[in-house]
Amino acid sequence: MPASLPLRAGLALAATLSTAFAADLLPDTPKQCASCAAWNKPQQPFRLFGDSWFVGTEGLSSVLIDSGDGLVLLDGGLPESAPLIAANIRQLGFRLEDIRYIATSHAHYDHAGGVAALARASGAQVLASARSAEALRAGDVPADDPQADFGSKANSFPKVENIRIVADGEALKLGTLVLTAHYTPGHTPGATSWSWQSCQERTCRSLVYVDSLNPVSDEVFRFSGGNGRPSIADAFAHSIGKVEKLPCDLLVSVHPDNTQMAEKLAARAAGTQPDPLLDAGACRRYAARAREKLAARLAEEKAAAKP
Ligand SMILES: [Zn+2]
Repeated sequence: MPASLPLRAGLALAATLSTAFAADLLPDTPKQCASCAAWNKPQQPFRLFGDSWFVGTEGLSSVLIDSGDGLVLLDGGLPESAPLIAANIRQLGFRLEDIRYIATSHAHYDHAGGVAALARASGAQVLASARSAEALRAGDVPADDPQADFGSKANSFPKVENIRIVADGEALKLGTLVLTAHYTPGHTPGATSWSWQSCQERTCRSLVYVDSLNPVSDEVFRFSGGNGRPSIADAFAHSIGKVEKLPCDLLVSVHPDNTQMAEKLAARAAGTQPDPLLDAGACRRYAARAREKLAARLAEEKAAAKP
């Protein structure tokens, strides 16, 4: 019957297309920024511990966790990082289609920029704090972001859909994985750090993916309040205290150089034992540095406010 031919042809075409595009990642327009090229240098993927892998670029972290019942990806780097992250995931033998969730740290273009493309390619749901979800949906930072005054042209990134809001302290269970969200506002209103355990043979370790605790801002913003905004100094200090107390055998920061990842990898490659990536003091040191930086920034603001 001739009438059925177009339908059959259409179905066949749809099947071909869905196979062809199943794992294809269509990247968004690259972000142009001063540090983008350096951040986006390719990085060979490597095992962090157990079922947790680093799949990011040289300057932007992205972590893949195999739960045994699907994958979880943490962060997506820049828009132009998405193809590199996808290639790293495949190089490890995993499939984009198996990513169930993409958990996000903070909604700035250098960590959330690649999330939209990775979510489209994988069909994954995106996990975010309530305040991050706002920014991810808008593809821009909210008015109370410390960098808001840089403007939309500088701050914007591809809008993200299919977001599930995760509460502070909420533990997401998938396969053998229990991934806990820790709201750590300060660098952005929605900043979120994540913790979980990974096991290798019979040893289990506590891993932390820590968000930025860097008090950087545009020219207008004051962490101590002012220019029509309240102080966020106490909330920021509370975030630092939270990170300091996390069980923490292995720390990955959103910018890997903030936890000396390259140096640790070089030491690992040189055969240093025990594994240099296992660094039980890393969260405490990261928090101590953040506390110093915040104190310095608040002192600067105080000095600048004097007539
Ligand atoms: Zn940022």
